Amino acid sequence: MNAINTDATCALCAAALDAHNRSKEHIIPNAIGGRLTTQTFICAACNNTYGHAWDAELARQTNWFSSSLGISRHRGEVPKERVQTIDGTGLWLRSDGTMAPEHPRSEIQEVDGMVTVRIVARNFDEAHRMLKAAQRRYPSIDVEKAKQEMEAKDEYLSSPLHVQLQIGGPEAGRSIVKTALAYASTCGVPHRCCDAAIGYLQHIEGTAPFGFAYTFEFIKARPNETVLHCIGLMGDPERGLLLSYIEYFGHFRFLVRLATQYSGEPVNASYAIDPISGKEEHVDLNWTITDDQIQAIFDGTADVHSGMMKAANHVMPIVLKRNEDRQRQRILVEAFDYAAVSLGFQPGDAIPTVHSEQFVALLMEKLSPYLHHLVARSNRAPALFGPDPLGNASSSQDA
Ligand SMILES: [Zn+2]
Repeated sequence: MNAINTDATCALCAAALDAHNRSKEHIIPNAIGGRLTTQTFICAACNNTYGHAWDAELARQTNWFSSSLGISRHRGEVPKERVQTIDGTGLWLRSDGTMAPEHPRSEIQEVDGMVTVRIVARNFDEAHRMLKAAQRRYPSIDVEKAKQEMEAKDEYLSSPLHVQLQIGGPEAGRSIVKTALAYASTCGVPHRCCDAAIGYLQHIEGTAPFGFAYTFEFIKARPNETVLHCIGLMGDPERGLLLSYIEYFGHFRFLVRLATQYSGEPVNASYAIDPISGKEEHVDLNWTITDDQIQAIFDGTADVHSGMMKAANHVMPIVLKRNEDRQRQRILVEAFDYAAVSLGFQPGDAIPTVHSEQFVALLMEKLSPYLHHLVARSNRAPALFGPDPLGNASSSQDA
């Protein structure tokens, strides 16, 4: 999509944009899977100074969603993130949705000259380094033999994870307002019409021109099976309104006021993307929201709590199912590869019938922890999403 910014100046510092300072800006941040870009919105200096930091903070706060869904990005992988279970265990959540211990552990015992080393590491390289370190203290340790005995083990969480369900802070807030402004700019709205948004982005102080939009359903015929990133723009000079609706991961929902008193052309535009596939999706937005409802969202007097829980209960089953499907797929592939390699074949080779019994036995050996986990989980109560006062919620999730 080509942007039509008639200003050809930076929305933040008003520098004229030319081939030297032009910056390719993702309208929805690349870090959460945004694809649509513009080169006529802000200059490279402003993008580097502010834009990246604001977007990085937004990405950090929504990283559980990015990792659990396995979103695709234009550039780079979703970074690993430190997460915590309800009972306080720290873990790293990786971009493929798997988790690893936050810290490696080692235990060395020496009884009657016999040294026993137990190491829990996050990967084989780390285990190797820890073995080498142990060998410096206990030269009798046979590192090569220990390496051959190392094995990868899957374990499953017994305590639910803490998940942040609310975006907060001035930097993430500015990322949201910047996205609204960038979209308005690509829709041809002159920067001078967006005084509320630009004033907020240019200054550290000031009231945020956005609110949590959970009391009004902006998406007509919301899809049941997927979560979307969505951005809408509505300009109504008769009501003096220039508003943007922004939704991330189907859950984080905001209404942004771009203009204090809008008197430009009428506008109505929307854009949506499936962050998993990166494909653009069509959505219809509902803008029948009343002035009182808008005011309540910006004043913070609208009831955010129950709407947010409703959104979470819509989105979480989709995210958890996607995470579980990816996990099952990964575990099956690992088990097939393990069984094949143990019998002296390459992963993916056809296994001769004569080996089928051994193959199935090896497959079951590798699948056993996962199957036990499924049985144990089926005996537990289903996950409930209830927030604590910080807007966190717990979610049952597997390592
Ligand atoms: Zn600039």
